[in-house]
Order: sequence, then structure tokens, then C-alpha cells
Amino acid sequence: MIPPAFDYARPSSVDEAVRTLAGAGDEAKVLAGGQSLLPLMRLRLAYPELVVDVGRIPELRGVREDGDTLVIGAMTTHHDVIADPLVRRHAGLLAAATATVADPAVRHRGTLGGSLAHADPAADLPAVVLALDGELVAQGPGGRRTIPARGFFVDFLQSALAPDELLVEVRIPKADGWGFHYEKFHRVAQAYAIVGVAALVRRDNGQIAETRIGLTNMGATPLRASAAEHALSGAGDPDAVARAADSAAEGTRPARDTAASPEYRAHLARVLTKRAVLAAAGMG
Ligand code: FAD
Repeated sequence: MIPPAFDYARPSSVDEAVRTLAGAGDEAKVLAGGQSLLPLMRLRLAYPELVVDVGRIPELRGVREDGDTLVIGAMTTHHDVIADPLVRRHAGLLAAATATVADPAVRHRGTLGGSLAHADPAADLPAVVLALDGELVAQGPGGRRTIPARGFFVDFLQSALAPDELLVEVRIPKADGWGFHYEKFHRVAQAYAIVGVAALVRRDNGQIAETRIGLTNMGATPLRASAAEHALSGAGDPDAVARAADSAAEGTRPARDTAASPEYRAHLARVLTKRAVLAAAGMG
């Protein structure tokens, strides 16, 4: 199918992009890698009157350090995130999870910012950025604002971004000294997760001192497994981890679809949390 007719703008700076969005109201859509937006337009599930292509704005790409924080431009592709030495050194969880996204063709076009702005609970990176306690920086007509990942994912395919705001960068606190692992359960290679679990673990004297767990596809938004995070504190062996992981699905409302029932997703969340935490803690 072909999309309905639309106007097209290709700004060359963030300021120009924001001015263009502000002038178009609700009728404009930002185009990043196009891996989610273009299929939706072809299926006529999205029909923007104006497409604002931000693919030629150099300041939106790349990774830099800002003290204890990694700053990743919204238009940095999945491929470039995986290959970046700073990401691999300070946010290995993000590199590892991004490597499970789709296939090389999608990873060369799709962007970190596009994946987060799309706010699909089945996508891998929202739960990962949530576990990493990331922050998202948006620029609109009133200037810049920083939104914690915990407040960014509002509902199914709905983020806290206003229609005239551009996501410009993602700020990730360096996770040096944390073990990490991403467990993704899918039926076929390169597919979306039926359930995914992102785990970060900090150990102290052989015991788990702190855990952060992000859940993919366990509700309308990515979620933190807060009950399991709490229960894992002080766990010192695989049996204790398994007992704590039993609370991984607490407070979630997973969907029923052709891939799985809510009960099966809850079961997966418990099993994958146990595996991800054991791997992240080096107890596997
Ligand atoms: P686009 O499609 O260009 O945009 C997506 C949405 O975000 C649009 O609404 C757009 O307006 C908005 N947007 C984009 N950038 C900005 C910005 N800077 N500011 C404001 N709004 C913005 N993802 C996974 O996580 N795991 C998978 O296994 C997976 N498998 C896939 C398989 C296939 C075959 C395909 C086509 C996609 C798959 N994806 C998967 C999705 C992929 O990761 C996309 O890259 C991602 O969802 C969207 O990124 P994009 O850069 O292409 O954004």
C-alpha cells in the first residue's frame, strides 16, 4: 500500500526542526529512521499532513560523555549504538539489548530516539533505558526540558512528548561496576519480544546490593519490576534469586494476543528475570 499524500520538510538544524513542528500543530510527524512510522503510514494507521525528516541534522547524532553521564543523540542508529566504545564501556546493557533488535537492515536505519519516541511496550530499548534510569531531553518552542524515563512512557504508543517537541538526546548515567544482561523471549530470531527482561545488578561482598529490572511487553508501557528489585536485595545464591524473581510480574497487566496469554507472559517474566539476574550477577 502507499501512504496518503503528505508534505515533506527536511530541516538542517534542531532549531529549524522545532520551528517547523511548531508551525504545523498536530498535523506533523517527525521522521527518524522510518522503521515504524513508514509502515504505519503505508497501512494508513498514521496519516500526517507534514513529515519532518530530521535525518540530516548532524547535532542529533553521536555519543559523548558529560561527567558521569553518556549523552546519545536521538538520531544515533541502533548500529552505531552497538558499535560505540563509550556505550560498550559504560552502558553495556544498552549495547547488548540493541544487538537483539530486528536485523542488520533495520538496525542501520532505526534510531534510539525513534524507538523511545514510538513508545511501543514490545520494543526492547524503552525497558532498557528505564532500567538504566535514563533521562530524555526534548526541545520545543519554549526551550529544552528533561524527562526521566520513568515519566516518559505514558500509555500504549504514547510518550510524554508534545506534538511540537523534538526528542534531541538521551542521557544515561554510566553504569560502571554493574553487571548486566538482557533476556529476550521471541518465537523466531529477529522478531519483537513476547517478553523481555533487562537486568542491572550491583554486588557487594558476594550478595546482591541493588538490582534494576526493566520489563518489555508486560503492559501498555515498559515497566520496572519494583517488587522483584526490592526482594532481590541481599540475595546471595541462585535459590534466593529464584525466590525473589517470583514477584517479577507483580503489578503488571500483560496483554493477551496471538503470541501469548497474560498468564504465560507472567510466567515468562518470572523465568526470564531469574535468568537475567543470575547472568548479570555472575551467578549463572
Ligand atoms: P521512526 O519510524 O522514524 O519514528 C517512530 C515514531 O517516533 C514516529 O511517531 C516519529 O514521529 C517519532 N519520532 C522519531 N524520532 C523522533 C524524535 N527525535 N523526536 C520526536 N519524535 C520522534 N524494535 C525493537 O525494539 N525490537 C525489535 O525486535 C524490532 N524489530 C523490528 C522488525 C522490523 C521488521 C521493523 C521494521 C522494526 C523493528 N523494530 C524493533 C522497530 C525498530 O527498532 C525501529 O527502529 C524503531 O521502533 C523506530 O525507530 P525509527 O528511528 O525508525 O523511528
